[in-house]
Amino acid sequence: MFKKISLSLILSIYAFGFNYNLNPQKVSEDVWCFFGKAEVPSKENGGFMANSCYIDAKDSYVLIDSGTSYKFAKQAYEAMQKIKNLPVSTIVVTHEHDDHWMGNSFYKSTFNAKIYAPKSINENYDENSKPRIFEILDAKDMENTKVIKADEIVSDNANVKVGNKEIRILRIKEKAHTSDDLIVYLPNEKVLFSGDIVMNERITSNRDGSVIGTLKALDTIESFDYNSLVAGHGTLTGKNATEHTKNYFTLLKTRVLEAIEAGITADEITKVVTMDDFKDIAMFDELNSRNVFDAFRELEFYDEE
Ligand SMILES: [Zn+2]
Repeated sequence: MFKKISLSLILSIYAFGFNYNLNPQKVSEDVWCFFGKAEVPSKENGGFMANSCYIDAKDSYVLIDSGTSYKFAKQAYEAMQKIKNLPVSTIVVTHEHDDHWMGNSFYKSTFNAKIYAPKSINENYDENSKPRIFEILDAKDMENTKVIKADEIVSDNANVKVGNKEIRILRIKEKAHTSDDLIVYLPNEKVLFSGDIVMNERITSNRDGSVIGTLKALDTIESFDYNSLVAGHGTLTGKNATEHTKNYFTLLKTRVLEAIEAGITADEITKVVTMDDFKDIAMFDELNSRNVFDAFRELEFYDEE
């Protein structure tokens, strides 16, 4: 019996490829999210790290980030159909990292969904671009996945009305998680989607970002009146969802500046600033030293205003 089941399981994986086993979690009235894993992208997790959320706008769904591939997006949609069988009319992409928007290809080809995104998506990618996820997953699991650019660039603020939902999209002025980040706010539902400016339950990746910019952007985010905040990664969605990111960047800034003041050089910085109090948080080994080193480069010539 057991043998029979595992053989059929293997056959189904062979025939259909990666099974994401997706279960949407209700975050607030009309808002569901698929929460990604606090791991680096791999064949084992199918590259599912970033959160992808659905907003029920009565006649259609609005998406905040579309996930890592066509296949992921298709399986997410099939899971949402069981909640309500609506088409997807609109997608907002929070920023250019591939784990957040390769799923656009499914929604574009199936529904011709309208895509709002920062300009970096259209400037830095074209049909021939192969972001890193193409290197990580097998070709079979990336089948039909294509770079689909934005229909509408958000370069400042956009107020979009879809069905019964008012959706405010804001571009963060300073370089924060990347040089081009969007956040999304639902004023009536009091839900905020921060993209990767906020992460919780894992160490952030700051390779394209800024310590100072992220701290400023966190102040902007916290100035909104929200009951739920959905991070780009991590499942905490309460009022304290920003706490981890804020503590990490605040301490990173303070300690790196102190080390610079004490004459520590680039070669020594990751040995001096270890951020050990975060060592039990997921992805510490993969990301922390790099964050410290990048913070040194950023803060080396920093003058507190
Ligand atoms: Zn990111």
